[in-house]
Amino acid sequence: METLCLNSSETQIAAEILQRGGIVAVPTETVYGLAANAFDLQAIKKIFVAKGRPSDNPLIVHISDKDKIYEVVSSFPEKASYLAEKLWPGPLTMILPKNPRIPHSVTGGLDSVAVRLPAHFVIQEIIKKSGFPLVAPSANLSGSPSPTNFSHVFEDLNGRVDAILDAGECSIGLESTVISFLEDPPRLLRPGAITPQEIETLIGPIIIDDSVYSKLKPEEKVLSPGTKYKHYSPKAKVVILKGTSEKYAEFLNSLSSENIIALCFNQDIPLLKIPYISYGDSSNSSEQAKKLFSSLREADKFFPQIIYAHCCRNEGVGIAVYNRLVRAAGFKIIKL
Ligand code: AMP
Ligand code: MG
Repeated sequence: METLCLNSSETQIAAEILQRGGIVAVPTETVYGLAANAFDLQAIKKIFVAKGRPSDNPLIVHISDKDKIYEVVSSFPEKASYLAEKLWPGPLTMILPKNPRIPHSVTGGLDSVAVRLPAHFVIQEIIKKSGFPLVAPSANLSGSPSPTNFSHVFEDLNGRVDAILDAGECSIGLESTVISFLEDPPRLLRPGAITPQEIETLIGPIIIDDSVYSKLKPEEKVLSPGTKYKHYSPKAKVVILKGTSEKYAEFLNSLSSENIIALCFNQDIPLLKIPYISYGDSSNSSEQAKKLFSSLREADKFFPQIIYAHCCRNEGVGIAVYNRLVRAAGFKIIKL
């Protein structure tokens, strides 16, 4: 298939492709998404094929107007509605009971649906012009780091999708925070740029699902099917090193530099004698969030056997950065 490349003023063309049942990669403030009509079974199927995504991994449905929520869900509890009022449009996805109109192929067979109102004007315009909500999982091949600019999407999906719309770099760089309202207190299933503390300030205590920090044990119930799959991984193996800049550099400088690369912080650079890529300042979690996925893709271009990532701070937005990094590393962490 020939993939059409669009610019950010060509939202009408993107909407027309979606109305004809096509699939289009579009920017959001989190990462680029691969969009299709949430009510069109054939278009939804094309998304799973293009990404190579397992069919039980449900998709997030994107709306452009809070008043249209009942096209997607069958109930909207008070706490969820209050969060929507305060944090939408924005990087927050809520799991709610699904409207019967939403096909089970969208929800991986579940009776719940994930819904978000994104802040990026391009996807908002496309939803409005299309006239229906859009499913939009990350626009990458399943398992690889999520795409945060046009060239990442092009690398993975050129020839597999109808169009890619280029609107530059995503401002956040990590996927949305996912919170489930199927129970009370609500349960955080995936951390993102909106932190647990921010949510708790608005609606009181929430539960953080065990899968946020650690690998699920085989007997544990999977509440968010996406969490059981290999995720965010570059081609090279990733290993996380936990320790000070000095210990990190000492460990790496003692290895043969041929087949390895450091995924480090700016502060580590003067100490390192091996090839490196920085994913930001060690105290700036938002910068790390923005750069993590593109740094993993960039590191792969050196064809290393191992990427040694310096462990980030696990608080605030850093919880989300840590969550993606440990998955990219398959939970391999060395304490120095
Ligand atoms: P992606 O769009 O690739 O960033 O992934 C969407 C994430 O939302 C995955 O981790 C899914 O497991 C999760 N998700 C989507 N729908 C549901 C749902 N109904 N219940 C629980 N998790 C969901
Ligand atoms: Mg994804």
